[in-house]
Amino acid sequence: MSFNEFNLHPLVASGVAAAGYTTPTPIQASAIPPVLRGRDVMGLAQTGTGKTAAFMLPILHRLMQGGRRHVRALIVAPTRELAEQIHESAGALGRKTGVQSATVYGGVGYSPQVVKLKRGVEIVVACPGRLLDHVSQGTIDLSRVEVLVLDEADHMFDMGFLPDIRRILALLPHRQQTLLFSATMPDEIRNLANDALNNPVVIDVGHSEAAVTVSHALYPVPQHLKTSLLLELLRHTDADSVLIFTRTKHRTRRLSDQLAKAGHKVAALQGDLSQGRRQASMNGFRDGTYQILVATDIAARGIDVSQISHVINYDIPNTTDAYIHRIGRTGRAAQTGDAYTFVTPDDSVMVRDIEKVLGSRIERRMISGFDYSVSAPPAQTTKTGQSRRPTPAVLIQKHMEKTMRVNPRKGPATSVKSLRGNRQRKTGGS
Ligand code: AMP
Repeated sequence: MSFNEFNLHPLVASGVAAAGYTTPTPIQASAIPPVLRGRDVMGLAQTGTGKTAAFMLPILHRLMQGGRRHVRALIVAPTRELAEQIHESAGALGRKTGVQSATVYGGVGYSPQVVKLKRGVEIVVACPGRLLDHVSQGTIDLSRVEVLVLDEADHMFDMGFLPDIRRILALLPHRQQTLLFSATMPDEIRNLANDALNNPVVIDVGHSEAAVTVSHALYPVPQHLKTSLLLELLRHTDADSVLIFTRTKHRTRRLSDQLAKAGHKVAALQGDLSQGRRQASMNGFRDGTYQILVATDIAARGIDVSQISHVINYDIPNTTDAYIHRIGRTGRAAQTGDAYTFVTPDDSVMVRDIEKVLGSRIERRMISGFDYSVSAPPAQTTKTGQSRRPTPAVLIQKHMEKTMRVNPRKGPATSVKSLRGNRQRKTGGS
């Protein structure tokens, strides 16, 4: 299948060519035709599937007819990073169309947004809170919005935005078409979809998407050896760009400092940073100034760096959805990537849940030559120097013996494979 078959307006088609897209991804192939026909669509798709172009191209096509310089398409997204990414996609795909887009989100000044809105734009990409602020101040007019897109609806729900979304729905008297994208379908999103969508076409590109392009591996490790194992793993791995997730802002800060001390080009992304610092981290990661980005889940939402080769879960995520979202950052579109997760014995329930969602057992790996038996620092032992409990190293050894059915003292079951080796064996697909 090619993009020609959609019969997009020639100026929109030239944006597709300029972006270098040749073959539509599965969500594009299924969603673009009904969206062009004006149907409502509910797309079950995670980031990395090409969903942005799946809604942006039909929107640009629609905007080639009818009035200009008033808001006709509203795209609501949970984070400013995602909003920026969608705005950039509007700019890139619509570069020949003359269509203008603006972003509206908090954490930055109002005035530049007001100036841009006053000048007249057809597309607004907004986070809910700031959008409602503009509405109440009369600095945005949504009365002529024709198309509404709710992107990453499950994240908006997680972040408590659903009441805002319902308020926004009530502000769009001339809405003709609504598109909702979500990686998962909790009941709240299903209810929202029932209320907001009119006889939608449901498109499910499913979670198997991730499995096609991403290979997963677990690295059992005691908590106190995670950083040493990470440094060893990075030494062995042929990685272009690595996104590392930790559980907390504090751990993100500390780990990025440790990696920097070890000589890595690393930036951090966590909620305490100013918008300027976050943007600098993102830009530096995108242009290769930093090879590694350490982030928390919230801060990483909406990250679009198409070249991420590895996602490393330094800490396992709290939910299976978070796992799917994290690994959705690698293996984007037609690329492949690796997702490594460090697991301690405490993580076994979550590992089981993740394997259930993926529908297969994840390979356990050990790094050859790495000393897994180094004991924890003294804080974890009693005054007499005796461990109160078995040390994490002993626990992990037991855990590995159980899960890998090998004696780790005898050597590794699997050594680290280079990404390039893996990539050659993998087939494309998206
Ligand atoms: P998204 O899921 O919208 O965040 O898109 C993921 C990545 O895939 C982005 O970097 C897009 O630029 C890229 N992409 C989207 N559609 C295509 C396509 N048809 N061919 C190649 N890359 C694409």
